[in-house]
Amino acid sequence: MKVAVVGGGVVGLCAAEAIQRRGAEVVVLEADRCGRAASAGNAGWISPGLSNPLPAPGVVPQALRWMLDPRSPLLIHPVMRPSFVRFLYSFWRNTRPARYGAGMAALVATTQRAVADFESLAERCRFEMHKEGMLFVARGSRALEGEHRVLREHLELGYAGEVRLLDRDEVHGEEPGLGDAISGAIFASAEAHVRPETVTAGVAARLRKVGVEIREHSPVRGLASSNGAWAVATADGGVEADRVVLAGGVATARLLAPLGVRLPLLGAKGYSLTLDRPPIKLKRPVYLVEDKVGVSPYDGAVRLAGTLELGSKPGQIHAKRVAGIRAAGARALRDWSPDLDWKTWTGERPLLPDGLPAIGPVPGNDGLFVATGHAMLGVTLAPTTAELLAPAVLDGRPSLELAAFSLARFDVLGVGRNQEK
Ligand SMILES: Cc1cc2nc3c(=O)[nH]c(=O)nc-3n(C[C@H](O)[C@H](O)[C@H](O)COP(=O)(O)OP(=O)(O)OC[C@H]3O[C@@H](n4cnc5c(N)ncnc54)[C@H](O)[C@@H]3O)c2cc1C
Repeated sequence: MKVAVVGGGVVGLCAAEAIQRRGAEVVVLEADRCGRAASAGNAGWISPGLSNPLPAPGVVPQALRWMLDPRSPLLIHPVMRPSFVRFLYSFWRNTRPARYGAGMAALVATTQRAVADFESLAERCRFEMHKEGMLFVARGSRALEGEHRVLREHLELGYAGEVRLLDRDEVHGEEPGLGDAISGAIFASAEAHVRPETVTAGVAARLRKVGVEIREHSPVRGLASSNGAWAVATADGGVEADRVVLAGGVATARLLAPLGVRLPLLGAKGYSLTLDRPPIKLKRPVYLVEDKVGVSPYDGAVRLAGTLELGSKPGQIHAKRVAGIRAAGARALRDWSPDLDWKTWTGERPLLPDGLPAIGPVPGNDGLFVATGHAMLGVTLAPTTAELLAPAVLDGRPSLELAAFSLARFDVLGVGRNQEK
Protein backbone atom coordinates (compact mmCIF):
# COMPACT_ATOMS: atom_id res chain seq x y z
CA MET A 1 0.00 0.00 0.00
CA LYS A 2 1.42 3.37 -1.01
CA VAL A 3 0.09 6.54 0.58
CA ALA A 4 0.81 10.11 -0.55
CA VAL A 5 0.42 12.76 2.15
CA VAL A 6 0.00 16.26 0.75
CA GLY A 7 1.25 18.93 3.18
CA GLY A 8 4.17 18.84 5.56
CA GLY A 9 2.68 20.81 8.46
CA VAL A 10 2.20 19.28 11.87
CA VAL A 11 -0.98 17.47 10.79
CA GLY A 12 0.47 15.99 7.57
CA LEU A 13 3.75 14.93 9.18
CA CYS A 14 2.02 13.23 12.12
CA ALA A 15 -0.37 11.49 9.71
CA ALA A 16 2.60 10.28 7.62
CA GLU A 17 4.29 8.96 10.76
CA ALA A 18 1.21 7.06 11.97
CA ILE A 19 0.56 5.56 8.52
CA GLN A 20 4.19 4.55 7.94
CA ARG A 21 4.34 2.95 11.40
CA ARG A 22 1.44 0.71 10.37
CA GLY A 23 3.46 -0.63 7.46
CA ALA A 24 2.59 1.45 4.41
CA GLU A 25 5.01 3.08 2.01
CA VAL A 26 4.57 6.85 2.46
CA VAL A 27 5.62 9.89 0.46
CA VAL A 28 5.12 13.43 1.78
CA LEU A 29 4.64 16.19 -0.81
CA GLU A 30 5.23 19.68 0.52
CA ALA A 31 4.88 22.88 -1.52
CA ASP A 32 7.50 24.80 0.46
CA ARG A 33 9.57 23.47 3.37
CA CYS A 34 8.00 21.26 6.04
CA GLY A 35 6.71 23.06 9.11
CA ARG A 36 6.98 26.55 7.67
CA ALA A 37 3.29 27.51 7.46
CA ALA A 38 0.77 27.64 10.36
CA SER A 39 2.71 24.97 12.21
CA ALA A 40 5.75 27.23 12.73
CA GLY A 41 5.13 30.24 14.97
CA ASN A 42 2.03 29.18 16.90
CA ALA A 43 1.88 28.97 20.69
CA GLY A 44 2.41 25.19 20.76
CA TRP A 45 -0.22 24.48 23.39
CA ILE A 46 -1.63 21.01 23.82
CA SER A 47 -4.77 22.44 25.29
CA PRO A 48 -7.72 20.17 26.13
CA GLY A 49 -8.94 23.07 28.31
CA LEU A 50 -9.56 25.17 25.19
CA SER A 51 -11.82 22.67 23.45
CA ASN A 52 -14.61 25.17 22.86
CA PRO A 53 -15.40 25.79 19.16
CA LEU A 54 -14.82 29.35 17.96
CA PRO A 55 -18.48 29.93 16.91
CA ALA A 56 -19.70 30.25 20.50
CA PRO A 57 -22.98 31.85 21.57
CA GLY A 58 -22.47 35.64 21.71
CA VAL A 59 -19.30 35.69 19.61
CA VAL A 60 -20.93 37.37 16.58
CA PRO A 61 -22.29 40.46 18.45
CA GLN A 62 -18.94 40.67 20.22
CA ALA A 63 -17.08 40.50 16.86
CA LEU A 64 -19.33 43.24 15.45
CA ARG A 65 -18.44 45.52 18.39
CA TRP A 66 -14.77 44.68 17.94
CA MET A 67 -14.86 45.62 14.23
CA LEU A 68 -14.32 49.21 15.36
CA ASP A 69 -11.20 48.31 17.32
CA PRO A 70 -8.16 47.36 15.21
CA ARG A 71 -6.41 45.98 18.31
CA SER A 72 -9.26 43.64 19.31
CA PRO A 73 -8.63 39.87 19.69
CA LEU A 74 -11.10 39.02 16.87
CA LEU A 75 -11.43 41.09 13.72
CA ILE A 76 -13.65 40.43 10.71
CA HIS A 77 -12.76 42.36 7.57
CA PRO A 78 -15.90 42.79 5.48
CA VAL A 79 -15.22 40.94 2.22
CA MET A 80 -17.97 40.75 -0.39
CA ARG A 81 -16.93 37.37 -1.84
CA PRO A 82 -19.95 34.98 -1.94
CA SER A 83 -17.94 32.14 -0.33
CA PHE A 84 -16.91 34.47 2.52
CA VAL A 85 -20.48 35.66 3.10
CA ARG A 86 -21.69 32.02 3.06
CA PHE A 87 -18.96 31.14 5.57
CA LEU A 88 -20.02 33.94 7.95
CA TYR A 89 -23.68 32.97 7.68
CA SER A 90 -22.87 29.35 8.46
CA PHE A 91 -20.51 30.45 11.27
CA TRP A 92 -23.33 32.53 12.79
CA ARG A 93 -25.77 29.58 12.60
CA ASN A 94 -23.22 27.43 14.40
CA THR A 95 -23.21 29.78 17.40
CA ARG A 96 -26.59 28.34 18.46
CA PRO A 97 -26.20 26.76 21.91
CA ALA A 98 -27.15 23.24 20.79
CA ARG A 99 -24.61 23.21 17.93
CA TYR A 100 -21.91 24.79 20.04
CA GLY A 101 -22.58 22.28 22.84
CA ALA A 102 -22.41 19.30 20.49
CA GLY A 103 -19.19 20.59 18.93
CA MET A 104 -17.61 21.17 22.31
CA ALA A 105 -18.58 17.69 23.52
CA ALA A 106 -16.92 16.17 20.44
CA LEU A 107 -13.76 18.23 20.91
CA VAL A 108 -13.49 17.58 24.66
CA ALA A 109 -13.90 13.83 24.04
CA THR A 110 -11.09 13.87 21.47
CA THR A 111 -8.64 16.24 23.17
CA GLN A 112 -8.54 14.16 26.39
CA ARG A 113 -6.07 11.80 24.73
CA ALA A 114 -3.97 14.56 23.11
CA VAL A 115 -1.25 14.77 25.78
CA ALA A 116 -0.92 10.96 25.89
CA ASP A 117 -0.64 10.83 22.08
CA PHE A 118 2.11 13.48 22.24
CA GLU A 119 3.94 11.52 24.94
CA SER A 120 3.80 8.45 22.76
CA LEU A 121 5.07 10.47 19.75
CA ALA A 122 7.93 11.75 21.93
CA GLU A 123 9.10 8.16 22.40
CA ARG A 124 9.83 8.03 18.65
CA CYS A 125 10.66 11.65 17.74
CA ARG A 126 12.74 14.31 19.49
CA PHE A 127 11.08 17.64 20.33
CA GLU A 128 10.71 20.12 23.17
CA MET A 129 7.71 19.32 25.39
CA HIS A 130 6.66 20.57 28.84
CA LYS A 131 3.89 19.34 31.12
CA GLU A 132 3.23 21.87 33.85
CA GLY A 133 -0.46 22.59 33.19
CA MET A 134 -1.60 26.07 32.33
CA LEU A 135 -2.77 29.28 34.02
CA PHE A 136 -5.72 31.32 32.76
CA VAL A 137 -5.00 34.74 34.27
CA ALA A 138 -7.15 37.87 34.40
CA ARG A 139 -7.07 41.45 35.55
CA GLY A 140 -10.76 41.50 36.48
CA SER A 141 -13.08 39.06 38.21
CA ARG A 142 -15.76 39.11 35.49
CA ALA A 143 -13.49 37.74 32.79
CA LEU A 144 -12.14 35.12 35.16
CA GLU A 145 -15.66 34.01 36.12
CA GLY A 146 -16.54 33.66 32.41
CA GLU A 147 -13.48 31.48 31.80
CA HIS A 148 -14.19 29.45 34.92
CA ARG A 149 -17.71 28.77 33.63
CA VAL A 150 -16.28 27.46 30.34
CA LEU A 151 -13.78 25.26 32.18
CA ARG A 152 -16.55 23.88 34.40
CA GLU A 153 -18.39 22.93 31.20
CA HIS A 154 -15.21 21.13 30.12
CA LEU A 155 -15.21 19.26 33.45
CA GLU A 156 -18.84 18.21 33.01
CA LEU A 157 -17.96 16.88 29.55
CA GLY A 158 -15.05 14.82 30.86
CA TYR A 159 -11.99 17.11 31.14
CA ALA A 160 -9.52 14.82 32.84
CA GLY A 161 -7.57 17.39 34.86
CA GLU A 162 -7.96 19.54 37.94
CA VAL A 163 -9.39 23.06 37.59
CA ARG A 164 -8.57 25.31 40.57
CA LEU A 165 -9.12 29.01 41.24
CA LEU A 166 -6.11 30.97 42.57
CA ASP A 167 -6.40 34.32 44.35
CA ARG A 168 -4.01 37.23 43.80
CA ASP A 169 -1.41 36.02 46.34
CA GLU A 170 -1.54 32.44 45.09
CA VAL A 171 -1.12 33.40 41.43
CA HIS A 172 1.83 35.71 42.15
CA GLY A 173 3.35 33.02 44.38
CA GLU A 174 3.04 30.53 41.52
CA GLU A 175 4.21 32.92 38.78
CA PRO A 176 6.32 35.83 40.09
CA GLY A 177 6.86 36.88 36.45
CA LEU A 178 3.27 38.14 36.22
CA GLY A 179 2.69 41.85 36.81
CA ASP A 180 0.59 43.47 39.56
CA ALA A 181 -2.38 44.02 37.22
CA ILE A 182 -3.13 40.28 37.35
CA SER A 183 -5.67 39.75 40.11
CA GLY A 184 -6.53 36.06 39.84
CA ALA A 185 -6.13 32.88 37.86
CA ILE A 186 -7.43 29.41 37.13
CA PHE A 187 -4.98 26.55 37.10
CA ALA A 188 -5.84 23.76 34.64
CA SER A 189 -3.63 20.74 35.21
CA ALA A 190 -4.19 18.59 32.11
CA GLU A 191 -2.46 21.01 29.71
CA ALA A 192 0.99 20.70 28.16
CA HIS A 193 2.99 22.59 25.55
CA VAL A 194 5.62 22.05 22.88
CA ARG A 195 7.91 24.27 20.85
CA PRO A 196 6.01 23.72 17.60
CA GLU A 197 9.00 24.13 15.27
CA THR A 198 10.76 21.31 17.10
CA VAL A 199 7.77 18.99 16.61
CA THR A 200 7.69 19.36 12.82
CA ALA A 201 11.51 19.12 12.66
CA GLY A 202 11.52 16.08 14.97
CA VAL A 203 8.78 14.19 13.14
CA ALA A 204 10.30 14.99 9.72
CA ALA A 205 13.70 13.73 10.95
CA ARG A 206 12.09 10.51 12.16
CA LEU A 207 10.29 10.03 8.83
CA ARG A 208 13.52 10.45 6.88
CA LYS A 209 15.28 8.02 9.20
CA VAL A 210 12.70 5.29 8.59
CA GLY A 211 12.90 5.81 4.84
CA VAL A 212 9.88 8.00 4.11
CA GLU A 213 10.47 10.20 1.08
CA ILE A 214 9.78 13.86 1.86
CA ARG A 215 9.65 15.97 -1.29
CA GLU A 216 9.92 19.63 -0.40
CA HIS A 217 9.32 22.47 -2.89
CA SER A 218 6.95 20.08 -4.60
CA PRO A 219 3.52 21.73 -4.80
CA VAL A 220 0.69 19.40 -5.77
CA ARG A 221 -1.11 20.77 -8.82
CA GLY A 222 -3.82 18.21 -9.36
CA LEU A 223 -5.31 14.86 -8.39
CA ALA A 224 -6.94 12.25 -10.57
CA SER A 225 -8.11 8.73 -9.86
CA SER A 226 -8.39 5.77 -12.19
CA ASN A 227 -8.74 2.03 -11.57
CA GLY A 228 -8.55 2.46 -7.80
CA ALA A 229 -5.27 4.42 -7.81
CA TRP A 230 -4.50 8.13 -7.52
CA ALA A 231 -2.19 10.16 -9.73
CA VAL A 232 -0.89 13.15 -7.81
CA ALA A 233 0.55 15.76 -10.20
CA THR A 234 3.51 17.86 -9.09
CA ALA A 235 5.98 20.08 -10.95
CA ASP A 236 8.63 17.36 -10.69
CA GLY A 237 6.65 14.55 -12.24
CA GLY A 238 4.13 13.45 -9.64
CA VAL A 239 3.39 10.30 -7.70
CA GLU A 240 1.10 7.29 -8.05
CA ALA A 241 -0.51 6.17 -4.81
CA ASP A 242 -3.25 3.86 -3.56
CA ARG A 243 -4.44 6.42 -1.04
CA VAL A 244 -3.99 10.17 -0.67
CA VAL A 245 -4.27 12.24 2.51
CA LEU A 246 -4.78 15.96 1.98
CA ALA A 247 -3.33 17.91 4.90
CA GLY A 248 -2.57 21.17 3.14
CA GLY A 249 -3.86 23.46 5.90
CA VAL A 250 -5.86 26.38 4.49
CA ALA A 251 -4.92 25.33 0.93
CA THR A 252 -6.79 22.02 1.25
CA ALA A 253 -10.02 23.50 -0.14
CA ARG A 254 -8.15 24.57 -3.30
CA LEU A 255 -6.87 21.01 -3.77
CA LEU A 256 -10.41 19.62 -3.49
CA ALA A 257 -12.18 22.16 -5.70
CA PRO A 258 -11.15 20.67 -9.11
CA LEU A 259 -12.70 17.36 -7.94
CA GLY A 260 -16.01 19.16 -7.43
CA VAL A 261 -15.64 18.98 -3.64
CA ARG A 262 -16.41 22.20 -1.76
CA LEU A 263 -14.95 22.44 1.70
CA PRO A 264 -15.93 25.76 3.34
CA LEU A 265 -12.47 26.42 4.72
CA LEU A 266 -11.10 29.84 5.58
CA GLY A 267 -7.77 31.12 6.88
CA ALA A 268 -8.05 32.67 10.35
CA LYS A 269 -4.95 34.78 10.64
CA GLY A 270 -3.00 35.16 13.86
CA TYR A 271 0.33 36.56 14.98
CA SER A 272 3.09 35.67 17.34
CA LEU A 273 6.08 37.47 18.79
CA THR A 274 9.11 35.46 19.87
CA LEU A 275 11.98 36.60 22.02
CA ASP A 276 15.21 34.66 22.58
CA ARG A 277 17.00 34.82 25.93
CA PRO A 278 14.08 36.72 27.49
CA PRO A 279 14.15 38.55 30.82
CA ILE A 280 10.52 37.35 31.19
CA LYS A 281 10.38 34.18 33.27
CA LEU A 282 7.30 31.96 33.51
CA LYS A 283 7.03 28.36 34.70
CA ARG A 284 4.14 27.42 32.46
CA PRO A 285 1.97 28.77 29.62
CA VAL A 286 -0.30 31.62 30.60
CA TYR A 287 -3.52 32.64 28.86
CA LEU A 288 -4.37 36.34 29.25
CA VAL A 289 -8.13 35.95 29.43
CA GLU A 290 -9.24 39.53 28.63
CA ASP A 291 -6.83 39.93 25.69
CA LYS A 292 -7.02 36.33 24.44
CA VAL A 293 -3.23 36.25 24.15
CA GLY A 294 -1.19 33.17 24.99
CA VAL A 295 2.29 33.37 26.51
CA SER A 296 4.48 30.29 26.04
CA PRO A 297 7.77 29.87 27.86
CA TYR A 298 10.25 27.62 26.01
CA ASP A 299 13.83 26.58 26.63
CA GLY A 300 15.66 29.89 26.13
CA ALA A 301 12.73 31.80 24.59
CA VAL A 302 9.24 33.14 25.17
CA ARG A 303 6.40 33.63 22.69
CA LEU A 304 3.23 35.73 22.75
CA ALA A 305 0.52 34.55 20.36
CA GLY A 306 -2.94 35.79 19.60
CA THR A 307 -5.57 37.60 17.55
CA LEU A 308 -7.85 36.07 14.99
CA GLU A 309 -8.61 37.84 11.72
CA LEU A 310 -11.08 36.71 9.10
CA GLY A 311 -11.01 38.11 5.59
CA SER A 312 -7.48 39.43 5.93
CA LYS A 313 -4.71 39.00 3.32
CA PRO A 314 -2.44 36.08 4.23
CA GLY A 315 1.13 36.91 5.10
CA GLN A 316 0.55 40.63 5.69
CA ILE A 317 1.49 41.91 9.11
CA HIS A 318 -0.85 44.60 10.46
CA ALA A 319 1.11 46.79 12.86
CA LYS A 320 -1.98 47.61 14.95
CA ARG A 321 -2.80 43.95 15.56
CA VAL A 322 0.79 43.31 16.65
CA ALA A 323 0.62 46.41 18.86
CA GLY A 324 -2.48 44.90 20.51
CA ILE A 325 -0.51 41.77 21.43
CA ARG A 326 2.44 43.82 22.71
CA ALA A 327 0.09 45.95 24.83
CA ALA A 328 -1.37 42.78 26.35
CA GLY A 329 2.14 41.56 27.20
CA ALA A 330 3.06 44.94 28.70
CA ARG A 331 -0.02 44.84 30.96
CA ALA A 332 0.50 41.29 32.17
CA LEU A 333 4.24 40.64 32.46
CA ARG A 334 6.45 42.07 35.19
CA ASP A 335 9.72 42.23 33.26
CA TRP A 336 8.26 43.68 30.09
CA SER A 337 10.24 46.42 28.41
CA PRO A 338 9.32 48.29 25.20
CA ASP A 339 12.87 47.80 23.88
CA LEU A 340 12.76 44.02 23.67
CA ASP A 341 13.57 42.69 20.20
CA TRP A 342 10.59 40.42 19.36
CA LYS A 343 10.47 38.48 16.08
CA THR A 344 7.03 38.84 14.49
CA TRP A 345 5.34 35.96 12.68
CA THR A 346 1.95 35.50 11.07
CA GLY A 347 0.11 32.33 10.09
CA GLU A 348 -3.32 31.10 9.11
CA ARG A 349 -5.34 28.64 11.14
CA PRO A 350 -7.50 26.48 8.86
CA LEU A 351 -11.06 27.20 10.07
CA LEU A 352 -14.40 25.60 9.16
CA PRO A 353 -17.64 27.40 9.99
CA ASP A 354 -18.52 25.10 12.91
CA GLY A 355 -15.01 25.38 14.37
CA LEU A 356 -14.43 21.59 14.18
CA PRO A 357 -11.81 19.86 12.02
CA ALA A 358 -12.59 17.79 8.93
CA ILE A 359 -10.93 14.39 9.28
CA GLY A 360 -11.79 11.35 7.19
CA PRO A 361 -12.74 10.12 3.73
CA VAL A 362 -13.80 12.54 1.02
CA PRO A 363 -17.34 11.65 -0.09
CA GLY A 364 -17.51 10.32 -3.64
CA ASN A 365 -13.73 9.85 -3.90
CA ASP A 366 -12.54 6.40 -2.84
CA GLY A 367 -9.07 6.39 -1.38
CA LEU A 368 -8.97 10.16 -0.79
CA PHE A 369 -8.84 11.52 2.77
CA VAL A 370 -8.66 14.92 4.41
CA ALA A 371 -7.17 16.13 7.69
CA THR A 372 -7.56 19.87 8.15
CA GLY A 373 -9.66 22.62 9.74
CA HIS A 374 -8.19 22.17 13.21
CA ALA A 375 -8.37 25.93 13.83
CA MET A 376 -6.87 26.69 17.26
CA LEU A 377 -6.24 23.01 18.01
CA GLY A 378 -4.00 21.93 15.13
CA VAL A 379 -0.99 21.21 17.29
CA THR A 380 -3.10 19.79 20.13
CA LEU A 381 -4.86 17.34 17.85
CA ALA A 382 -2.16 16.47 15.28
CA PRO A 383 -0.96 13.17 16.81
CA THR A 384 -4.52 12.18 17.81
CA THR A 385 -5.81 12.97 14.30
CA ALA A 386 -3.02 10.79 12.93
CA GLU A 387 -3.79 7.84 15.22
CA LEU A 388 -7.52 7.96 14.43
CA LEU A 389 -7.10 8.54 10.70
CA ALA A 390 -4.38 5.99 9.91
CA PRO A 391 -6.61 2.86 10.36
CA ALA A 392 -9.32 4.48 8.23
CA VAL A 393 -6.78 5.19 5.46
CA LEU A 394 -5.20 1.74 5.52
CA ASP A 395 -8.13 -0.58 6.24
CA GLY A 396 -11.08 1.62 5.34
CA ARG A 397 -12.26 1.14 8.93
CA PRO A 398 -14.60 4.00 9.84
CA SER A 399 -13.70 5.47 13.20
CA LEU A 400 -16.56 6.24 15.61
CA GLU A 401 -14.41 8.90 17.28
CA LEU A 402 -14.12 10.72 13.95
CA ALA A 403 -17.88 10.76 13.22
CA ALA A 404 -18.30 14.35 14.46
CA PHE A 405 -15.50 15.48 12.16
CA SER A 406 -16.80 13.84 8.98
CA LEU A 407 -16.80 15.90 5.79
CA ALA A 408 -20.36 14.68 5.21
CA ARG A 409 -21.62 17.28 7.70
CA PHE A 410 -21.14 19.80 4.88
CA ASP A 411 -22.76 19.61 1.48
CA VAL A 412 -19.29 19.11 -0.05
CA LEU A 413 -20.59 17.60 -3.29
CA GLY A 414 -23.16 20.35 -3.78
CA VAL A 415 -25.99 17.86 -4.16
CA GLY A 416 -28.44 19.42 -1.75
CA ARG A 417 -29.01 21.73 1.12
CA ASN A 418 -26.28 22.08 3.66
CA GLN A 419 -27.07 19.50 6.29
CA GLU A 420 -27.14 22.13 9.03
CA LYS A 421 -30.49 22.40 10.66
C1 LIG B 1 -1.16 32.70 16.33
C2 LIG B 1 -1.51 31.23 16.33
C3 LIG B 1 -1.38 30.51 17.51
C4 LIG B 1 -1.73 29.16 17.54
N1 LIG B 1 -1.54 28.45 18.69
C5 LIG B 1 -1.88 27.14 18.73
C6 LIG B 1 -1.69 26.39 19.92
O1 LIG B 1 -1.17 26.88 20.91
N2 LIG B 1 -2.09 25.09 19.93
C7 LIG B 1 -2.69 24.50 18.85
O2 LIG B 1 -3.09 23.35 18.94
N3 LIG B 1 -2.84 25.18 17.68
C8 LIG B 1 -2.46 26.49 17.61
N4 LIG B 1 -2.63 27.20 16.45
C9 LIG B 1 -3.23 26.53 15.30
C10 LIG B 1 -2.20 25.66 14.59
O3 LIG B 1 -1.08 26.46 14.29
C11 LIG B 1 -2.80 25.12 13.29
O4 LIG B 1 -4.07 24.56 13.53
C12 LIG B 1 -1.91 24.03 12.70
O5 LIG B 1 -0.58 24.49 12.60
C13 LIG B 1 -2.40 23.60 11.35
O6 LIG B 1 -1.50 22.62 10.87
P1 LIG B 1 -1.63 22.01 9.41
O7 LIG B 1 -0.60 20.98 9.27
O8 LIG B 1 -3.06 21.65 9.18
O9 LIG B 1 -1.38 23.24 8.45
P2 LIG B 1 0.03 23.99 7.98
O10 LIG B 1 0.96 24.00 9.12
O11 LIG B 1 -0.44 25.23 7.41
O12 LIG B 1 0.57 22.97 6.96
C14 LIG B 1 0.01 22.79 5.68
C15 LIG B 1 1.14 22.51 4.73
O13 LIG B 1 0.61 22.12 3.46
C16 LIG B 1 1.43 22.67 2.48
N5 LIG B 1 0.68 22.76 1.22
C17 LIG B 1 -0.36 23.58 0.93
N6 LIG B 1 -0.77 23.40 -0.34
C18 LIG B 1 0.02 22.43 -0.86
C19 LIG B 1 0.11 21.82 -2.14
N7 LIG B 1 -0.69 22.16 -3.15
N8 LIG B 1 1.06 20.87 -2.33
C20 LIG B 1 1.90 20.49 -1.34
N9 LIG B 1 1.86 21.06 -0.11
C21 LIG B 1 0.94 22.01 0.12
C22 LIG B 1 1.83 24.02 3.01
O14 LIG B 1 3.00 24.53 2.39
C23 LIG B 1 2.03 23.72 4.48
O15 LIG B 1 3.36 23.38 4.78
C24 LIG B 1 -2.25 28.54 16.38
C25 LIG B 1 -2.32 29.25 15.19
C26 LIG B 1 -1.96 30.59 15.15
C27 LIG B 1 -2.05 31.34 13.86
